[in-house]
Amino acid sequence: MTTSIIGFPRIGENRELKFNTEKYWRNEITEDELQQFAKDLRLKHWQLIKDAGINGIPSNDFSFFDTTLDTACLFNIIPDAVKQLNLSTLDKYFALARGYQGDKGDIKALPMKKWFNTNYHYLVPQFSKSTDIKLVGDKIFNEYQEAKDTGIQTRPVIVGPFTLLSLSEFKDVQASDFIDDLVKVYQAVFEKLAAQGAEWIQLDEPELVKDVLGDNKILFKTIYDKLLQNKFGLKILIQTYFGDVRDVYNDLINLPIEGIGLDFIEGRKTKELVQSGFPDNKILFAGVVNGKNIWRNHYETTTDLIKSLPAKNIVISTSCSLLHVPFTIENETFPTEIKQHFAYAKEKLRELDDIQTILSGNGQAVESKNKHLFEKPRVKPNKSVHERVAKLTEDSFVRHPSLEERASIQKKEFNLPLLPTTTIGSFPQTREVKKTRAQFRHHEISQEAYDKFIAGHIDEWLKWQEDIGLDVLVHGEFERNDMVEYFGQNLDGYLFSKNGWVQSYGTRGVKPPIIWGDIARNHPITVKWSKYAQSKTDKIVKGMLTGPVTILNWSFPREDISIKDSTIQIALAIQDEVLDLEKNGIKIIQIDEAALREKLPLRKTDWYSEYLDWAVPAFRLVHSKVKPTTQIHTHMCYSEFTDIIPAIQNMDADVISFEASRSNLEILDALQKEHFKLQVGPGVYDIHSPRIPSIEEIKTTIHKILEKVPEQKVWINPDCGLKTRGIHEAKASVENLTTAAKEVREELLIHDRN
Ligand code: GLN
Ligand code: ZN
Repeated sequence: MTTSIIGFPRIGENRELKFNTEKYWRNEITEDELQQFAKDLRLKHWQLIKDAGINGIPSNDFSFFDTTLDTACLFNIIPDAVKQLNLSTLDKYFALARGYQGDKGDIKALPMKKWFNTNYHYLVPQFSKSTDIKLVGDKIFNEYQEAKDTGIQTRPVIVGPFTLLSLSEFKDVQASDFIDDLVKVYQAVFEKLAAQGAEWIQLDEPELVKDVLGDNKILFKTIYDKLLQNKFGLKILIQTYFGDVRDVYNDLINLPIEGIGLDFIEGRKTKELVQSGFPDNKILFAGVVNGKNIWRNHYETTTDLIKSLPAKNIVISTSCSLLHVPFTIENETFPTEIKQHFAYAKEKLRELDDIQTILSGNGQAVESKNKHLFEKPRVKPNKSVHERVAKLTEDSFVRHPSLEERASIQKKEFNLPLLPTTTIGSFPQTREVKKTRAQFRHHEISQEAYDKFIAGHIDEWLKWQEDIGLDVLVHGEFERNDMVEYFGQNLDGYLFSKNGWVQSYGTRGVKPPIIWGDIARNHPITVKWSKYAQSKTDKIVKGMLTGPVTILNWSFPREDISIKDSTIQIALAIQDEVLDLEKNGIKIIQIDEAALREKLPLRKTDWYSEYLDWAVPAFRLVHSKVKPTTQIHTHMCYSEFTDIIPAIQNMDADVISFEASRSNLEILDALQKEHFKLQVGPGVYDIHSPRIPSIEEIKTTIHKILEKVPEQKVWINPDCGLKTRGIHEAKASVENLTTAAKEVREELLIHDRN
């Protein structure tokens, strides 16, 4: 048995690729210097993988930004405007990734979307009538050659044609129009690699773990029937990940390919599928080491699993590319008792090698050491948390009285005008704000000085909100670094890594906190500043919290208990916070669920049973005990939700605000169609752009909203928090928003009077 990986983190041990690329963008190093740096980094990584004893080493998994974009560039799938730019190939590539604005032209970046169920983002290739597919790139060949020249045989990786077409956008054309052209260029890649001496190519086809039915299945079969007619002697690995391939398993095992990569971690049916039969003339690349989470592999379970498979030829592999975990645990400062439970990318290489050793019969020592890690529970259970969870009944997840009754009670309580205005929570996090927080964190300024600074900002922004006539105010979130980390740092059960960076997109990374044990809240988190802000104004100030599903989805979850159980624990902790806010006079509480959709299963058929059926109740648990007079808001962004509207309704908040300014009508239509009952604040302008929307523009948007949503139910707000905006843009935009709302409100009142 041998070992292999699907891909390796490209950003480098200390995010060196990020820092060098950004230097290049700032013109601090030349293109040659950047290219040389990248080459050295690739060599270093190949050597490291080889030294760890891995047999199947990928190449072309490196990228300056994103491998889907690399594939589009390889095949000339780029807009004419970019081709015509008088820039180097690399700069054109960056223009596609980030946009270009300069003396040579004005190019918008390609759209970016979440990569399946991860927090990585890919660039969406655009096909149109003028798309002229041909082999124009050389990255894949150069990188293969680079490795070969140092004596390392690699397996070049590329996004497969089915996934490429499925993830792309088409204007006046459709995917099937491009099958023949794509087949030709993929075959040209096979031919060229074979001539260079490559043995294998890996075609990444994660799209196969979704529902592949009807036309999709026909597309998949047509492409591969044609593609595999000439492989130029190259061995083909079709690599899937993030789930199981139940809709196409039988097709896959009958294709004339040499290897099939399957995910045994997220693929609930993978084991069953393989046990139903696997051909002797193919190699199973068994993804048994989790490429998405950071816990040590349990060797006994893994080796038992592998032994249970009827496949004759097995390569031990990871469940997905290691791109989704940080580089190495070596640079973390956790005590050994903690550290020994973690495996980042580099340590996972070691695990693959260990598993191979055990399976070859020589691994008694590693096996018993590994067993030891799992013998005792890793953490002591928090008794009071478990008692509390045990006492939950169905009613704990239900708020009384009903939404309609609450609405009329709250209407009297708050006496808000028609089309009430508010913002989503955060105000600009200026350099000064970030610097002061850092100084406080490093004990460079006293608690007193820090508190004075935060209070000063709150005062200033409250006054501005009163002056411009917003109806429901916020304190501005100046004390928060990040909407998840801030809560994690204040909850028992969380750990924070020093260097646990994972690429999110391009040079941007996230450092997810780690859920280590049972989650509990041992002190109020947000009460101090919410209460302070409320004491300073007669208007209502919204309390501001992050919801349990988002906190979980943006953390590395435990594997010794289910994510559902962890989410319930977080929900109880946030429930304590909600009740404390209420007790302290906060009348409106917003519980953000920005990332609700993130762990939505890739198969539609699993949406409710696998996820929403517990994620939605977890949210309800947070607010089920509040008084009818307390108004609960929630906020969602980053993703479409037209298809989960019933689930959102079921969260049973009183008001929801969401990102809508870019796809306004679509969402409003869906709300209307589903008879959405909550009050809604569809964002009336896009906060992701520095441009300031005019009063007229916002009025037009409000009128569009009023065509679809009854006026009694509409709130007016931006589409997300303002923390990434400059002060001037933020203020000017919200001022226009309040003016627009007032003017429309007056129109409505005059209309009603007549
Ligand atoms: N309340 C948060 C803010 O205003 C919400 C952030 C988000 O939805 N991403 O920043
Ligand atoms: Zn948002």
